[in-house]
Amino acid sequence: MNFLLPLTGSFAQPAAENPTVAMIEAAYQHHGLDWRYINVEVAPDDLGDAVRGARAMGWRGFNCSIPHKVAVIEYLDGLGASAEIIGAVNTIVRDGDRLIGENTDGRGFVAALREVVDPKDKSIVLFGAGGAARAVAVEMALAGAARITVVNRSTDRGKAVVDVLKNRTATQAVYAPWQGTFTVPKDTDIVIHATSVGLYPDVNAIPDIDTDSLTPDMVVADGIHNPPLTRLLKAAQERGCKTVDGLGMLVQQGVIGVKYWTGVDVDPQVMREALLILRL
Ligand code: NDP
Repeated sequence: MNFLLPLTGSFAQPAAENPTVAMIEAAYQHHGLDWRYINVEVAPDDLGDAVRGARAMGWRGFNCSIPHKVAVIEYLDGLGASAEIIGAVNTIVRDGDRLIGENTDGRGFVAALREVVDPKDKSIVLFGAGGAARAVAVEMALAGAARITVVNRSTDRGKAVVDVLKNRTATQAVYAPWQGTFTVPKDTDIVIHATSVGLYPDVNAIPDIDTDSLTPDMVVADGIHNPPLTRLLKAAQERGCKTVDGLGMLVQQGVIGVKYWTGVDVDPQVMREALLILRL
């Protein structure tokens, strides 16, 4: 029996209600994989010991969430290419005796988006510049997006994401301040919302975007997975846009992680259903 250890610093849910545990265990069960995925709370001061413990016990890998996504890097032996650009990891994979850090946040997003549209050569407006937005921006750039406009409330974080895109990828990147209601330019192909506005329990909050500027030829994606149908996505659907919800991103991250650890391609639909049972 192998264990995968997710290191979480903000453990607030019993395992049965933890979305990642629920969807990954559902995939193991569905595919007859004799693996376990468990949730463990690790305080920041104990992170080094936890990683040494995972090594000592021969764990195949683990996920880590905030606040460990950057701090864990010093305990690892290497980083995947996009994780190195992003500067944060959420998935650790054992390769022989080495622990390699990967970042599946943005890759999960791109995989979910690709079910609706290929980002290659597209013009993107990205709201947000936190950890999720940074990962999404880098992976969209690596997937061949032509241009990414980063719209963020705080200028320093917004410009930092633009600098990474300009210095490390071939995509054109610009920062646009978010002051008042933002009008989405007409030539935009894909609108991505990656701030925390509208996340449970603040489900009635909607990011300050002029939804009348959304047109039916635009695809609108939201990183928020709880609730899956955010007010922004609802407004976009009413405007005739195709939409991509945050459950897709969460599920596809899980699919990528399980592939890394077990080598098996698991069924995303099984994972999505496990999340919906939690009423996410
Ligand atoms: P961070 O705290 O790193 O970043 C938060 C972002 O939201 C920043 O850009 C911040 O702007 C912006 N923001 C927060 N409040 C407001 C506001 N009132 N108005 C405008 N902007 C605001 O969080 P993460 O990047 O880790 O997470 C962001 C979202 O992505 C969350 O909702 C999270 O649930 C979701 N997520 C989804 C995943 C999935 O699998 N579906 C995976 C990871 C994250 P500023 O810089 O100005 O503070």
